[in-house]
Amino acid sequence: MTGAVARESTARPTSDAQRQRRSSCPLCGAEPVQSRFDYGAWDVAHCRRCGLGFARPLLSDEELRAIHTEEYFDGRFTETQNYLENGDNRPLWDVTLDWIERRTGRGRLLDVGCGCGFFLRSAAEHGWEATGFDASAWAADHVRTTYGLNAYTGTLDGVPLPVGHFDVITLWSTLEHVTDPITTLQQVRGFLRPGGMVCIGVPNYRGWSVKLKGAKESNFKREHLYYFSGRSLRRALTDAGFEHAQRMLIFGGGASSTAGSLAQYLLRRFGVSNQLMLAARRPLR
Ligand SMILES: [Zn+2]
Repeated sequence: MTGAVARESTARPTSDAQRQRRSSCPLCGAEPVQSRFDYGAWDVAHCRRCGLGFARPLLSDEELRAIHTEEYFDGRFTETQNYLENGDNRPLWDVTLDWIERRTGRGRLLDVGCGCGFFLRSAAEHGWEATGFDASAWAADHVRTTYGLNAYTGTLDGVPLPVGHFDVITLWSTLEHVTDPITTLQQVRGFLRPGGMVCIGVPNYRGWSVKLKGAKESNFKREHLYYFSGRSLRRALTDAGFEHAQRMLIFGGGASSTAGSLAQYLLRRFGVSNQLMLAARRPLR
């Protein structure tokens, strides 16, 4: 009896399940999946059926929180990655907001995974009623104190936001960090008004950079748990109850010349840009 109690007290069922090098696809259930890139302590497994890549083992929520501290955003976590100094891309946020506004008008916007708040600040400047959420308490606090905007932290299922409230919810470079993307997308759907739009940007698992650099591509890093292609992201959106998924074919915003913008556009058009951007709708009923 005592032994059973002792075993129970040390068992961590969720965590243990996450730590397994699972052999089935977490999105479509296909089995077995192949190990595509091996980094020793972890690998990227690839599902041939739906095209999803995922890290094995997953990180726990506690491990993720330990990574996404202030150091993660200001360059102390990885020298080459200083979001606070280099993460702003105002021209890109402007054309992205223009793209959204042509389809929805302006209204209430929630940015999930708002990080340092650059996109949120641009949205507020465009006239949106802009609210942020980030699992990092540091990031949410930074957004509140730097821009005076509403920003929440914690978990999405516990956040005190009204359901069915937002016209648009954006997740930029966020969905690849969460332990359960379908659940996250379902929670997002709940915060959207019927007919509201979700916009997602993730590294493209089928982008030219992955094709060229393979395992050395910079987006393969421990805190990225899922690697989406257009196909697998559409499937995730459908599974979470969204409809009318479409690519966000945005022109301009990054390249300094028209030719550069055109090249970027064509990469997006053919699905091999390094950043994948999709929008979808919460059904009207
Ligand atoms: Zn699959």
